[in-house]
Amino acid sequence: MSKPRKVAILGSTGSIGRSALEVLKSHRGQFELACISCHQQLELFEKQCHEHRPKLAVVTDASNPQAQQWVSNAGSDAMRRACGTDELIRAILGPEIDIVVAAIVGVAGLETSLAAVESGKRLALANKESLVVAGELLLNIAKKSGAEIIPVDSEHSAIFQALQCKGQSESNTRQDDSQLNEQVEKIILTASGGPLRDWPLEELEKATIQDALAHPTWSMGRKITVDSATMMNKALEVIEAHWLFGLPAEQIQVVIHPQSVIHSMVEYRDGSVIAQLSPPDMKLPIQYALTYPARTTATSKRMDWSQSQSLSWYPVDPARYPALELGFEVARRGGTCGAVLNAANEAAVELFLQSKIRLTDIAKVCRSVLQHHDFATNPSLAELLRQDRWARDEVMRWNQSLC
Ligand code: NAD
Ligand code: MG
Repeated sequence: MSKPRKVAILGSTGSIGRSALEVLKSHRGQFELACISCHQQLELFEKQCHEHRPKLAVVTDASNPQAQQWVSNAGSDAMRRACGTDELIRAILGPEIDIVVAAIVGVAGLETSLAAVESGKRLALANKESLVVAGELLLNIAKKSGAEIIPVDSEHSAIFQALQCKGQSESNTRQDDSQLNEQVEKIILTASGGPLRDWPLEELEKATIQDALAHPTWSMGRKITVDSATMMNKALEVIEAHWLFGLPAEQIQVVIHPQSVIHSMVEYRDGSVIAQLSPPDMKLPIQYALTYPARTTATSKRMDWSQSQSLSWYPVDPARYPALELGFEVARRGGTCGAVLNAANEAAVELFLQSKIRLTDIAKVCRSVLQHHDFATNPSLAELLRQDRWARDEVMRWNQSLC
């Protein structure tokens, strides 16, 4: 039997992080938990350390005095405690980690994703913002280092799986883009439509935080749940798919599929459509990103073929979801657009969650910030981060101008 692969789960206290811990628990022997990290929620983190016994536990928020205290509390166990993102990056670059599960939310996850690909490791990527902000950079580094980027996002995992039906290709990495593009007509990303799917259009601006957080099919962190209500999540996923699969915006389509059972599809040149189906449970794509190319027994819920079930889909109404078009625009323009859209959205979602703006303001302010930014075609990481800061400030200025 081969040696267990050493896994780091970044953002272990979050929705994806907790599911990833469960997957690892059901795969003892095949994987071992090398490292976990969190930013806040120290109580839960402490519990996770106790239950899952990682070799290293890092609290990334070094400014939190409680985190410093937590580090100095080191007990008699073999686990090492550390504080700060630098410590986490050092571990990612080192020999004690083989696979990085990137489950931090927002652009805060970019630095660690970059470290994982720089060191040529497998990156099981849930943090779509890394690709949205710096897709080109990340892929170029991965190409040089030989790092594998395996998607955890359910739609992209579905496409990654469905793409394995293409021709005689050895792998589905970006290296065979041209071969891929010849065979694929388009990819179809499914979207649940979120909790406000059936609301009258004129009521949308009245949606409260609770309304936006009441997702019908998925249980996820707050930021991505708000993104699902505006469909900014799908906009980010269009950009993510564009980078991950090397396809232009014109070959990406989005349809509403309320049951969240078809996770996405690939339509080939001959008209065949290959879809991946399973009940909505992130444990499955997380597991596949860890075990790929193998498939192992899963603890996730399975399809029940003895029961009747209807699957439906219909086109997206752009008037209801104006954010979606922004994703296509960014996938077409590239350059600094992804960093700006992502940052504007993160800042706007935060304002919405503080009851300072309406849900419907999110797409409006993002569009305005995107239109006014200082576009550059081939930005460096420093330039992307500068644009990220500018876009956040711009959202704040926009909000203050309303007050
Ligand atoms: P979450 O809010 O539940 O968890 C976020 C995690 O990131 C927490 O552990 C938190 O401590 C950590 N974190 C927050 N800010 C940080 C910072 N500044 N530095 C370092 N760590 C920080 O989020 P989630 O729903 O688990 O989503 C995580 C990522 O996965 C997001 O990028 C999201 O888009 C993506 N994703 C999530 C789902 C899902 O079902 N939840 C599905 C697909 C993709
Ligand atoms: Mg998704």
